[in-house]
Amino acid sequence: MLRLPRLLAVLAVTLFCFTARAQNYAPGEVIVKLKSKSGSTESFAFMGKAHSKHAMALKQSWSKLNMYHFTLAAGQRVEDAIADLKQDPTVQYAEPNYYLSKSDVVGLGQTFTAEEHAANMQNQAQSTYEATSAPIGAQTVWSASGSVPAQRPVVAVIDTGLDTTHSVMVSTNAVWTNPNEIAGNGIDDDNNGYIDDIHGWNFVDNSPTIYDDDGHGTHVSGIILSLDQNIYTTPLHESKIQIMPLKFLNGSGVGTTSDAIRAIYYAANNGASVLNNSWGGADYSAALNDAVAYSYQKGALFVAAAGNNGSDNDSTPMYPASYSVPNVISVAATTDYDYLASFSNYGGGTVHLGSPGVYIYSTVPNNSWATMSGTSMATPFVSGTAAQMKVASPAMLGYQMKQILLGQTNAVAQLQGKVNTSGRLDSSASVNFAKTAVVDATEPAYTPSYSNDRELASSMAGAGGCGLVKAMNSTNDKDGGQPPFGSTAAVVILLLAPLAILLMLRAHAPENRRRYERFKINSDVRISVGDRELIGSVSSLSLGGAQINTTALLQDGGLVTLSISSPTGEEKIEVAGRVVWSAANKAYGVAFDQAPQSVLSRISDWTQGLKRAA
Ligand code: CA
Repeated sequence: MLRLPRLLAVLAVTLFCFTARAQNYAPGEVIVKLKSKSGSTESFAFMGKAHSKHAMALKQSWSKLNMYHFTLAAGQRVEDAIADLKQDPTVQYAEPNYYLSKSDVVGLGQTFTAEEHAANMQNQAQSTYEATSAPIGAQTVWSASGSVPAQRPVVAVIDTGLDTTHSVMVSTNAVWTNPNEIAGNGIDDDNNGYIDDIHGWNFVDNSPTIYDDDGHGTHVSGIILSLDQNIYTTPLHESKIQIMPLKFLNGSGVGTTSDAIRAIYYAANNGASVLNNSWGGADYSAALNDAVAYSYQKGALFVAAAGNNGSDNDSTPMYPASYSVPNVISVAATTDYDYLASFSNYGGGTVHLGSPGVYIYSTVPNNSWATMSGTSMATPFVSGTAAQMKVASPAMLGYQMKQILLGQTNAVAQLQGKVNTSGRLDSSASVNFAKTAVVDATEPAYTPSYSNDRELASSMAGAGGCGLVKAMNSTNDKDGGQPPFGSTAAVVILLLAPLAILLMLRAHAPENRRRYERFKINSDVRISVGDRELIGSVSSLSLGGAQINTTALLQDGGLVTLSISSPTGEEKIEVAGRVVWSAANKAYGVAFDQAPQSVLSRISDWTQGLKRAA
């Protein structure tokens, strides 16, 4: 077994506490959850108020969770906005967009070029080499899980990205490919809200280009693959699993809660069975808790790093590891000799098991290799094992995987009282158990509770008496499966010029529902797409829709807000919604699941006396 050079090691580690308590969140941003369903009267009223009274701009929404991400007006403080929002009886919670950080231990590792790696491997028994010498039984797993399945289980690596060109990733064909997306055609072929997302998504750049400007995500991915086969020797063979790289941490290993939520949603909605989360923060976020709960409802396993503060998570929680969602496994780091790593967080109640996390040898960008340490490295051993369990038992759900992983740990005296199972991961036992286990298709019910003592639950005081609803908002859920044209009574469909707008969400099976006469009109329209604003003109308008001309491209997966001027230019209405494709009209449009009567009345007034359009 290879022993890489070690410094005085673990005891001398300077602990990095990523979560400085002072303003550990993105300035000018809030995440809000409403008690009312998206599309309800209360929801519309809130959106109008948020826009007109607070000048908040909607950045994105998760309509299935009634959750919204806003940017604040320039100069507005997050604390003030949250204090104000908590007075609103329709608000379930309002919180900052907290920063989150990768969970490796800086300074506890060493990088090797491809040549140095070859030298490291020389004189080693390459055929039996493993990422760790801790006895988790990886070699047994290589063969025990079975052959390459037709449907290779997907592990989402929610991290700093992945060097998809690393020889190990290429030779094993391990990088997930979206089966329903066509590369580079500028179209969201699978209608998941992301254009050309062939190999996952980069939430930092909002692009389909995956890279790893830190190294952390590539290292984590290699560890996951080290349970699939011996990645240290050649030739490599096709992996039994796929790695879905979801980059939300930047080159410094820092990301936001909103991007973490987007990544979790993406993973859960696009077929990931296991979500690897080698990151965290000390700030409790109800929104992140909701996202984790969503992954549970989707049957996935959520594996999370316990953190590297050397502290007790039972008294000082680390999130997402400390959420009590039934699919979460909180992972502590252990040494080759099954001692708790000095940097590792622990918790007899809330941390579940130990897993190797000290001087782990794995892949890093540019065909290089490195040792790294941290609960970041311990986590992917659990995720990689879970993925092989899924190979062995394809119908198994995340919750059952968790029960088996915890039930099959190796009892270790040193972990007694430190982790809930008093044990260290046993990959071999877990996979072998999964092979013969009867699949349990049921999972316990779980409902997130929003705790008052965290000061996140909304105050019931205050009447939120803002009157006029000037703006409305529809369900903009990029991830959800809303029907393309809302089924509720008032539907406003704005038909956009077909060729002018290319990068659009194309909805499934649209129907021509035009029921209203269209009138010619020539007035201005402002289209808000995320933070951008586009100018165009309206050429026809009806209660059912409007033809709009704009030369600019819309790129935000169909999330738009339109501000339309009246023919006289004296009035404006604001409406927001999802971009949809109408095959019948051969045009893009924006669908609204509900429009307030006030907006329809305005449109009706405007069209009085206008010439009818064809
Ligand atoms: Ca797509």
